[in-house]
Amino acid sequence: MFEILLTVCLAGDPATCTTELHPGGETLESCRAAATELAARANGVAQEWPCAEAGATPSFTVTEVAPGVFVHRGVHAEAAAENQGDLANIGFVVGTDSVAVIDAGGSAAVARDLLAAIRRETDLPVRWLVLTHMHPDHVLGAPVFEAEGATVVGHADLARALGARRETYLEANAELIGPGFEGSGTPAEVDPVDVQRKIDLGGRVLLLEAHPTAHTDNDLTVFDTATGTWFLGDLLFIDHLPAIDGSIAGWIELDATLATREAARAVPGHGPVAVQWPVGGDPLRQYLAALAAAVRDAIRAGVPIQDVTATVGAEMAEGWLLVGAFHGRNVLAAFKELEWE
Ligand SMILES: [Zn+2]
Repeated sequence: MFEILLTVCLAGDPATCTTELHPGGETLESCRAAATELAARANGVAQEWPCAEAGATPSFTVTEVAPGVFVHRGVHAEAAAENQGDLANIGFVVGTDSVAVIDAGGSAAVARDLLAAIRRETDLPVRWLVLTHMHPDHVLGAPVFEAEGATVVGHADLARALGARRETYLEANAELIGPGFEGSGTPAEVDPVDVQRKIDLGGRVLLLEAHPTAHTDNDLTVFDTATGTWFLGDLLFIDHLPAIDGSIAGWIELDATLATREAARAVPGHGPVAVQWPVGGDPLRQYLAALAAAVRDAIRAGVPIQDVTATVGAEMAEGWLLVGAFHGRNVLAAFKELEWE
């Protein structure tokens, strides 16, 4: 197996260069072809894209995307033993007296790797675990940070949402991930954020904001006021096809508001460790708009729900990864929502 080491720099800012690992294929030749294609899609922000044998680089890495702000990039896949549920981008922010972790990863194994990465940077206590939303790849490593004494903070609707899905998430992920799942779980308690909350880590303040229904009904973003780094959770997908588990209309509306805000960089829930904002959200915007338009057309044309996934094809998802896993579900979710407009 080969991996693509894509070096990506935000325009005009060499300090932002980061290396991302992408699966590259079975042979060096196929890896190089995939790398060229990937670099073309990276909109000119990719500087280098060599291929290397898988495992030549450390398996769990974090990138310092801004001073004191670290992000680990998850893989574009569904949960499985070989990835231990390491699917989401997760990270941490280091202040002068404490550390906040942003998302816990999809298993205790991933969370332990993240904790080890934190300990390579600092001995300060992990006082906060901020969860961006309920999905298992962001949440199920929570017990590792609770054991460190972290207070778990999330959207005011997170605890209810997790309560409803807890058993399903635990059963499904235990089966998919296997032994590495031991010790994983949902948090015992979530300190709720109704609208906004500030967390002071010493020398820097994080602004937490709870949003109306979009990707899910419990999305929360984290803005580091010291560096202008904005953790958007799964309100921002890059490369990995977005998954709609809340409201497509709500997501389009919320994104339009978020896009008017300034940030030095945004951290997506899936994709590179950091991108420019708002331009980094353009492919997501285009996909959601095209999907909503196509589904509305189908509803107007009287297409019955059992035929809608065949009618609303995957052309709009071209260039995205994991289309087979998510596009059909998105079409159905959008149909069920928009037919009541
Ligand atoms: Zn999600």
